[in-house]
Amino acid sequence: RVAASLSKQHLPSARFSGDRAAPGTPHFDVVVIGGGHAGTEAAAAAARCGSRTLLLTHRVDTIGQMSCNPSFGGIGKGHLMREVDALDGLCARICDQSGVHYKVLNRRKGPAVWGLRAQIDRKLYKQNMQKEILNTPLLAVREGAVEDLLLAKPEPQRPGSFRVRGVVLVDGSAVYAESVVLTTGTFLRGMVVIGLETHPAGRLGDQPSVGLAQTLEKLGFVVGRLKTGTPPRITKESVNFSILNKQTPDDPSVPFSFINETVWIKPEDQLPCYLTHTDPRVDEIVLENLHLNSHIKETTRGPRYCPSIESKVLRFPNRRHQVWLEPEGLDSDLIYPQGLSMTLPAELQEKVITCIRGLEKAKVVQPGYGVQYDYLDPRQISPSLETQLVQRLFFAGQINGTTGYEEAAAQGVIAGINASLRVRRKPPFVVSRTEGYIGVLVDDLTTLGASEPYRMFTSRAEFRLSLRPDNADSRLTLRGYEEAGCVSQQRFERASQMKASLEEGISVLKSIQLSSSKWKNLIPEASISIDRGVPLSALDILKYEEVHMELLAAVAPAPLQKYAECRELAERLKIEATYESALLHQQQEIKEVQRDEALELPEDLDYLRLKDVSLSCEVREKLHLSRPRTIGAASRIPGVTPAAVTNLLRFVKTAQ
Ligand code: FAD
Repeated sequence: RVAASLSKQHLPSARFSGDRAAPGTPHFDVVVIGGGHAGTEAAAAAARCGSRTLLLTHRVDTIGQMSCNPSFGGIGKGHLMREVDALDGLCARICDQSGVHYKVLNRRKGPAVWGLRAQIDRKLYKQNMQKEILNTPLLAVREGAVEDLLLAKPEPQRPGSFRVRGVVLVDGSAVYAESVVLTTGTFLRGMVVIGLETHPAGRLGDQPSVGLAQTLEKLGFVVGRLKTGTPPRITKESVNFSILNKQTPDDPSVPFSFINETVWIKPEDQLPCYLTHTDPRVDEIVLENLHLNSHIKETTRGPRYCPSIESKVLRFPNRRHQVWLEPEGLDSDLIYPQGLSMTLPAELQEKVITCIRGLEKAKVVQPGYGVQYDYLDPRQISPSLETQLVQRLFFAGQINGTTGYEEAAAQGVIAGINASLRVRRKPPFVVSRTEGYIGVLVDDLTTLGASEPYRMFTSRAEFRLSLRPDNADSRLTLRGYEEAGCVSQQRFERASQMKASLEEGISVLKSIQLSSSKWKNLIPEASISIDRGVPLSALDILKYEEVHMELLAAVAPAPLQKYAECRELAERLKIEATYESALLHQQQEIKEVQRDEALELPEDLDYLRLKDVSLSCEVREKLHLSRPRTIGAASRIPGVTPAAVTNLLRFVKTAQ
C-alpha cells in the first residue's frame, strides 16, 4: 500500500478554505491531519513558525469539537493550557472567549497547584476556534479523509529508514509535504459501543480511519488498543435543580491567557453548576446488566481517572458517586452529567439517570457511549514528537495514548513547532521536565509509554514549585520566540516586560528594610515566631500569608506603590515571595537533572548487541524499546537499575 501510493498522481484539490497555496500545486511545508485539539494547535503553531501549512480534516464544521466534557483546564491541565498559551497557542485564548463558568480549583493549596478551569460553551468554542484557524496566515484548511502516507524511497545507505513525503486522501489525490503531523484522536480503527451493539466510528456520527491505521501497522509501528466513554446528555428543563447543591463561578474570573486581563463574560452572567450523587439503585442496575454491556467486559484499558459509572460501581461498590451537572452552553438546552459516562443499552441508561436525585424526570436526548481505538506506543517517538521509524512524521494527541483536550493541545503545539523547525533544518524544540508540564508529559510518554490513557496531574511533576501556572510565560515565551519563532512580537514584548518588572520588583523588595514598627501590624502575632522587634526586608514580610503588595505599599509607598498598582504584577510578586526560599533549594535539584539531560545517548545505539557495557537482558530490552535520548531519560525507565545507569554513563563518557 505504501509503495503503491508513491506512484499515485497529483489530482486537483477538492475544497479549499483560506488557502494561500497556488491552485493545482498541493505542496506544503507542513501537513497536519486532524482538526481536533492537537491538530488545531499543531497547524497554527507550524504556521506561526512561518511554514506554509495545510490542515486536513474530515469536516471543517467539526474543527475544535469537544468530543466529551464541556470544560477545559483543571488541576495539572490548567498548567498545560498556560504553557500552550506561553507558546502563543490557541486553546487558552479561545477559552477566555467561550467560557460560561470560570473557577480556579485547589485554592486552599498553594498557587503552584491552583487549577484554572472553566465550563465552556461547546458551540462558541467551535465557532471561535474555526474563526481563528480560518484566519491564520499561511494556514490552509481542506476537508478530506487521509487514507495513506506518501513516503520517499529509503536512501541506499539506510535501507530501513523512511521519510514522509506527503499524504494520500480517500479519493486518491495526493498532497506533498516536507513534514506531516498525525493527530487523529480516537479515529484509528475506532469502534463505538452502546450495550452489545458496536459499529465502526471515530466518535458518534464520524467515520473511523482504517486505511491509515493499516499503513502505520505495516510500517512497523507498535499499535495498542485503548477505550474511553462519554455520558448521556439530558435536557435542562427536565432537571429539578431546586433540590441540588449549586456551585457559583469565581468573582472575578481568572483568564487562562497571559494576554487577557479579563474574560469575555461577567461573573453575574455566567451559569452555575449543580452537584448530585448516585444512589444504591444505580449499582443494582449496573450489576444486574453487566451481560448487556460489552464495553465494560472488554479488557482494553480505559481512563483510570475519568472512569465510567460501571467501572466505579465495580471498583468501589456501595458508595455514592458524585455527579456534576454542567451546562453545555449559554443557549444550549443540554446538561452534561459529569461522572456518568456509561455504555449500558440506551433504555437502561434512562433508568440509571432517573434514579438520581434531581434527575427523577430527566429526559435523555443522546445516550452515553464508549469508543475503542488504536493508539501508537509513544516510546516510538522522540521528545520532539517525531517518529523514530519515519523521518519528518510527527504524532500528537490521543493517538499517543493520552486523554484530554489539554494533553492533546500541549502535544499539538510541540509537534507543530518541530514539524516546522525540521523543514527549516533547525534543531528541535524540546521542553524538559525542569521547564514545564509539557516536558513532563512528553518525557513520561516517550520514556515510559502509556499502558492506559495518560492524563496530567500536578503530582507527575517533580519541580511543581517552579512550574507554576503564573510563571509559564517566563519559562517558555522567550524560548518560543527565540528558538522556534512561534511567538508574536507583541507577546514576546509583554512577557519580556513582565519578566524585567518581576526581577526589578524582587530586588527592590529585598533592598527595603522595614523597622518592626512598620511591619508588626501587618503580620498577626500568632503567625510569626521570630523576634518582633527586628527590622525585616519587604520580601520577607511579603512571604506571610496575610500580607500582599497593597498592604506593603501602604507602609512604604514611595518605592513600592508602582508594583502594587498593577494587579497582575502585584499577584506575581506575592507568589514569587511565597516560594523564594523553597525555590533556592529546588534550583540545585534542577541543575542535577539538567546535567543528566545534557548527557546524550547516541541515537543509533543497538542496546541488544552493545558490548563493553554490563547490562542485563531485561534492561537491554527496556532500553531497546524506549530508546532514551539522555542518561536522565534512561534513569526514569522503570526497571533500569541505578547500576545500569552508572554503566551506561561510563560508556557514554568513554565514547565521547
Ligand atoms: P480529536 O479531538 O479526537 O480529533 C481528531 C481529529 O482528527 C478529528 O477532527 C477527526 O475528524 C480527524 N481525523 C481523524 N482521522 C482522520 C483522517 N484519516 N483524515 C482526516 N482527518 C482525520 N477526555 C477526557 O479527558 N475525559 C473524558 O472523559 C473523555 N471522554 C471521551 C469520550 C469520547 C467518546 C471521546 C471520543 C473522547 C473522549 N475524551 C475524553 C478524549 C478527548 O476528547 C480527546 O483526548 C481529545 O479530543 C483528543 O484530541 P485529539 O486532537 O488528539 O483528537
